[in-house]
Amino acid sequence: MKKPLILLFAVPLLCWSALTKPVTETPCRHAPAWGFFAHKRINRLAVLTLPPEMMLFFKPNIDWISDHAVDPDMRRYATKNEAPRHYIDLDQYGRPPFDGLPRQWVDAMIRYTDVFTVTAGRDTLLLFGADHALRNAAENDPAAKTYRNFFIRQVLPGFYTGSNEIDADSLSSFMTAHGFASNTSQKVAAAFFEEHLSEHGILPWHLQKMQRDLTAAFKRRDAKRILRLCADMGHYIGDAHVPLHTTSNYNGQKTGQHGIHGFWESRIPELFADESYDYFVGKPEYLDATGDFFWQTVLESNSMVDSVLSFERALHRSFPSDRQMCPDMRNGTPVLVHCRDYAVAYQEQLQGMIERRMRAAIHAVSSAWYTAWVDAGQPDLSQMDIPPATEEEIKEEGELKKSYQQGKIIGRPEDH
Ligand SMILES: [Zn+2]
Repeated sequence: MKKPLILLFAVPLLCWSALTKPVTETPCRHAPAWGFFAHKRINRLAVLTLPPEMMLFFKPNIDWISDHAVDPDMRRYATKNEAPRHYIDLDQYGRPPFDGLPRQWVDAMIRYTDVFTVTAGRDTLLLFGADHALRNAAENDPAAKTYRNFFIRQVLPGFYTGSNEIDADSLSSFMTAHGFASNTSQKVAAAFFEEHLSEHGILPWHLQKMQRDLTAAFKRRDAKRILRLCADMGHYIGDAHVPLHTTSNYNGQKTGQHGIHGFWESRIPELFADESYDYFVGKPEYLDATGDFFWQTVLESNSMVDSVLSFERALHRSFPSDRQMCPDMRNGTPVLVHCRDYAVAYQEQLQGMIERRMRAAIHAVSSAWYTAWVDAGQPDLSQMDIPPATEEEIKEEGELKKSYQQGKIIGRPEDH
């Protein structure tokens, strides 16, 4: 599994610098989270830890699960809903441990979703805004419970279908039934919502949904869906282990450290992981409460943000400036990347943090898969047919690759 050494070309630096831009200024399309390299490694190594009953199915599909570990990053070029699934800007919600932030997705959506009505006279009124008592009420508040039920039935489905409309009659009946009708004297002609949760990322909430979906897929012994969800989930769990996926200063852009995202999660693992990381993480563990586990993961990652940034900042000042960036080639394009010696020095400062996070990610991925399988009743995974890809699936995959190759990321980029 040794990785070929990166070739350094004997081009004079002067000429090179005329040709290159620092990698931090190039479009980020080829430097996604954890790098393609680490995401693929995490999924592959997670498979190798599974118990024999699961291995029966996973081992023959190990290449697929590994290759498709990067699909979620490719989807970021095709759909606007994808980007927020890869991060959460915890610093936008106060200070650790962010007790006020609802851990369940529905509760968080209620807290951060505005509901508007449009009256017959075409006035738009904010009905449930940020300060509304029902959005901030305690969980056991009876009125809040009714609003929660209404929200789940009438508002939430739109999040998945991409429509922000709310049925006006249902809203009117809810308002009348619960004594809110006085908020608006005019008849409700239309209603819609605006959710603001996605603005700062939804990573730990999205993982909760994926865990449920994967458990259901195991129950149905739906081989294709199991593979799809395992590959995706491995990706998002990997992202959850990256400190810079939990802060709005995700690329050091607020602290003059542009490019640190790719340096930490792509460049360093590519240079050192296969060479020196201990990939043996042991058997998967059953997770009693997966939702809490995903939260704990992002909170741990977040607690490392300070070190990730401050160590690099100090190193940048003390390390010879002409030995920090080196010429390299990426996909036929000359770029400047962090030099190997600089990466060695940074890694030493971090005292094995990147290796520890990668190992933790591998173990978390296999544990989440294993937990879904156990929760589904440990179905027999032998002799499961994987139906061949349908024409539509082949077309979709082709389009995904095309938009990735040509494309511009939709939503937040990670490293520029
Ligand atoms: Zn990602």
